Amino acid sequence: MRSLVLIALFSIPAVFCGGAASENGLYGPVSVSDYLTGRFDPAAHPLFVDLASLKIPSDGRKHYLRKEAATALHDLIAAFRKDHPKTEFFVRSSTRTFWDQKKIWEEKYNGATLVGGRDLSKSVRDPRARALEILRYSSMPGTSRHHWGTDVDINDLANRYFDRGDGKILYDWLRVNATRFGFCMPYTAGRKHGYREERWHWSYAPLSRQFTRQWLELSGKKIIISSKGVFAGSETCGDLAPQYVSSVSESCR
Ligand SMILES: [Zn+2]
Repeated sequence: MRSLVLIALFSIPAVFCGGAASENGLYGPVSVSDYLTGRFDPAAHPLFVDLASLKIPSDGRKHYLRKEAATALHDLIAAFRKDHPKTEFFVRSSTRTFWDQKKIWEEKYNGATLVGGRDLSKSVRDPRARALEILRYSSMPGTSRHHWGTDVDINDLANRYFDRGDGKILYDWLRVNATRFGFCMPYTAGRKHGYREERWHWSYAPLSRQFTRQWLELSGKKIIISSKGVFAGSETCGDLAPQYVSSVSESCR
């Protein structure tokens, strides 16, 4: 009888661990769903590191990544420097919290930030159509890979920058060498769904593959339910959020 009770107790866990501290070390002292939706402070998370401590060049703001991703990025930049000592390479965006992403999203949704030169709150009244416009390049809060501490934006947020000069040298080098350091480019050209091409966005795949899978398996449904009313336009996230999280290049899966 006692062993039956024990078996019963130990067979419950997976369903309930979303709200408790994660047990396997991958997420540190944060619940799985809080981690995957960026509801924690990377500066206070023991598995994260300030990129300045590794002398990783940046735009001057504070940047945090998972330690494994930061070390790999440090090594990648060192290798790039050997091949191209004079070509610039710096981080301009790294880990963003749910609240960072909510600000970015809502400023676009409410028209404070123009999208393609337009105030979407006036030019696109339908919530779903407006969300789709923003989703060309920006994620809904709770659905960004930048929540995970594995993804960075580098140098310039325009694909054309990578067509010539320093941008082209850097992009051509990354296409050949990034995988050696564990990095992949999630938003390649020619995918059927999801965000447009982003040549500036790179991801540390050994971790982000696991987070993608986990987001889709465990947290996706919770996120959709828990997001209702939490940000402007959240009523549209039901089918769009999982579609955008899952639509990444083959090399990032
Ligand atoms: Zn990005």
